[in-house]
Amino acid sequence: MSPVVERFVRYARMDTQSDPDNAASTPSNDDELSLAQTLAQELRQMGVADARADEHAYVTGHLTASAGAQGAPCLGLICHIDVSPDACARGVSPRFARLEAGRIELGVQDDGTSVVVDAGNTPDLAEVPEGAEVVCTDGSTLLGADDKAGVAEVMELVARLCADPSIPHPALAICFAPDEEIGHGCSLLDLEAFGADEAYTVDGGPIGEVNYETFNAASVTVRFRGRSIHPGSAKGVMVNALHLAEEFDAALPAWERPEHTQGREGFYHLHGLSGTCESATARYIIRDHDDASFERRKRLMQSVAELMNERLGQPRVSCEVVDEYRNMARGMESHMDLVDDARSAFHACGVEPRVIPVRGGTDGAQLTTRGLPCPNLSAGGFNFHSVREFVPVRSLETMVDVLERLVGLRARA
Ligand SMILES: [Zn+2]
Repeated sequence: MSPVVERFVRYARMDTQSDPDNAASTPSNDDELSLAQTLAQELRQMGVADARADEHAYVTGHLTASAGAQGAPCLGLICHIDVSPDACARGVSPRFARLEAGRIELGVQDDGTSVVVDAGNTPDLAEVPEGAEVVCTDGSTLLGADDKAGVAEVMELVARLCADPSIPHPALAICFAPDEEIGHGCSLLDLEAFGADEAYTVDGGPIGEVNYETFNAASVTVRFRGRSIHPGSAKGVMVNALHLAEEFDAALPAWERPEHTQGREGFYHLHGLSGTCESATARYIIRDHDDASFERRKRLMQSVAELMNERLGQPRVSCEVVDEYRNMARGMESHMDLVDDARSAFHACGVEPRVIPVRGGTDGAQLTTRGLPCPNLSAGGFNFHSVREFVPVRSLETMVDVLERLVGLRARA
């Protein structure tokens, strides 16, 4: 087993599933602290003297620049140590398998059903060469390549840099953060103490991915106030809040929903609706890559509420919009050299880079908004948040080479 694979398997075995029901504390799961402490200790053993894990399970550590690269900006490398709560992640037991005849046999479950990976459930499986060895599970838990593949790759990079001072690199700031999967991201990371001038998250999918565009994101809570009365004597009096909610939703363009959109197309998504005749609440999210179109969507929802109130002659509909994160692209405009160097590093390692706009957010979106430009790189895994998650062994190994190339490119003063 190569060192990065050994690391990955070891980290994947540790339970670090974030807990959405305990999101008020960081980490949401105390087990995240164990992995954080392990990583900090391993970094110190490599020679990263200031490596530490804090009480919130943030691991940070710094490497000074190689000889001659002291003038280059300090580069951050960021991954997350938690795994998704979307599937079982207790007792993860990584195993090795191969892609044979277009299938990866994961295992047979207690009820006799076998779990396989094939083109039917994994559209990008064509990117994996026939015969490739992968790390997966038996299909009863997720693997946690999101993002422990990234953690293992960055750890192995640091091990290489510490062992061979002749490898060029700028000053590096390393961060492994908890609870990314429950929206916590790097919110408790003290950027001043972290000291990075620019950064990458290593948290993407199949090898070669580079992301510097994300959605703009807002959540919208629409509240409807009705007037309830016995239905038998309701004429001219009852105002049914549930029908107000229906009317509101019908005023939004039905073809601009997640199930009808792709690429850079934005959407309105109704993800919660509850209520009675007396009152109802509809919960939406708005997503759009384009800034102007994002603002238009927010205005449309507010004007539907205003029009309804006008027609009703009373303020019965209220619309509360909360911005969540911004498209990273705007903050990246003067830092596109980070994307260009990432492409060059992939090319140099024989991987065709693919720049993909994310239909979601990344940790880097928030960091870029906070002033730390931070595109995202592939970690190498497939089928994130699923029991069919796997990562090709070659991708883990090649990503360490890609990162080594990349820090070499960033070492230019
Ligand atoms: Zn992730």
